[in-house]
Amino acid sequence: MNYLVVGSGLFGAVFARETAAKGSNKVTVIDKRSHVAGNIYTKEIDGIQVHEYGAHIFHTSNKKVWDYVQQFAKFNRYTNSPIANYKGQMYNLPFNMNTFNEMWGVRTPQEALAKINEQRQEMAGKEPKNLEEQAIFLIGRDIYEKLIKGYTEKQWGRPCTELPAFIIKRLPVRLIYDNNYFNDDYQGIPIGGYTKMVEKMLDHPNITVKLNTDFFDNKKEYFKNYDKVIYTGMIDEFFDYKLGELEYRSLRFETEEKNVGNYQGNAVINYTDAETPYTRIIEHKHFEFGKGDKDKTIITLEYPADWHRGDEPYYPVNNDRNNQLYAKYAELAKKQDKVIFGGRLGQYKYYNMDQVIEAALKAVREEFSE
Ligand code: FAD
Ligand code: UDP
Repeated sequence: MNYLVVGSGLFGAVFARETAAKGSNKVTVIDKRSHVAGNIYTKEIDGIQVHEYGAHIFHTSNKKVWDYVQQFAKFNRYTNSPIANYKGQMYNLPFNMNTFNEMWGVRTPQEALAKINEQRQEMAGKEPKNLEEQAIFLIGRDIYEKLIKGYTEKQWGRPCTELPAFIIKRLPVRLIYDNNYFNDDYQGIPIGGYTKMVEKMLDHPNITVKLNTDFFDNKKEYFKNYDKVIYTGMIDEFFDYKLGELEYRSLRFETEEKNVGNYQGNAVINYTDAETPYTRIIEHKHFEFGKGDKDKTIITLEYPADWHRGDEPYYPVNNDRNNQLYAKYAELAKKQDKVIFGGRLGQYKYYNMDQVIEAALKAVREEFSE
């Protein structure tokens, strides 16, 4: 069969690799960008792997997915431990004994728990209905006001009372002194960058990659020339927005080179107040323990932005309105028997990398009835 994969991000790359590896299938991968790897693209500058589309830390508890990626990259032992800067005061993340000590001066888990319980009282007996209520229910008002509210409202461009609770459920709360942001069994960053990893996935005699190529410039031709299309772009754009636009959140990245070896002492610092216009600054060399030019560093400021047609759609906004609209697009998608919709945009899901890989492997199994 002749497959066309639209998008060389993680979903497209895994699907292409696994399909090409099945004997005589031929796979053409197109991407409208000038590079492969989608949002996990990294570019080397001054010997530093720069995460061009924001910080990407690989973490998973899925052993199959972890084993799968080991074929294409060696991972370092990076553990994400972001710091929050609230009006000049630094707090450890995720919410753990270090944070509680910095916030309230408490030293033991018992003292912390007593404080958290006192703070959560206002939600007693109530079912959290939105992100604000969920956050107060989880951790209380002080932490909500200083570490969640400003950051979240900047990130999503709307009040926490209008956001779904699930967004905040991702963040761990711990009564131990442990700044590891993730609870997963496996974590790390591919040594030498994500781009190399994706290039290795796509390096197969049955795969052809064409960059700077937009599917919509030749949609009809592609349908004629290929047996099957794997589409990882925006699902509403595929259908020409005929049921209406899904909402996305966009980002603007400002990358600067600094003539200093170590700018902020950590890979990720979140700015959790409402006034600072960016949400976080990342210092790329710390993802690889300071590797690269010892007198220079590269930082990126991440500014959240509204999405309008033509902007990069980084995040699906999975609130009720959008999920219902997506369900209607998914019905249309089912009727397209020549097309598989995949990835963060094709399935309109706030997927992490490991979930994207899992979904792509599942799509391959379904395609080949395994
Ligand atoms: P994408 O990477 O978006 O790939 C889609 C590709 O399709 C793009 O290259 C695009 O150019 C191409 N395309 C779209 N339309 C067309 C068209 N019409 N014609 C041709 N090509 C087209 N996950 C984690 O696990 N850990 C993290 O730390 C993490 N951090 C993140 C930080 C940020 C700021 C963001 C935005 C996401 C983060 N993620 C993280 C999620 C991760 O980026 C995604 O799960 C993953 O990259 C999605 O892969 P994908 O293939 O679905 O999509
Ligand atoms: N969040 C927050 N304060 C922080 C970091 C995260 O309130 O300092 C909230 C915010 O709503 C964000 C969500 O937690 O959207 C998930 O954060 P995560 O770091 O997992 O988001 P991502 O890396 O996917 O942008």
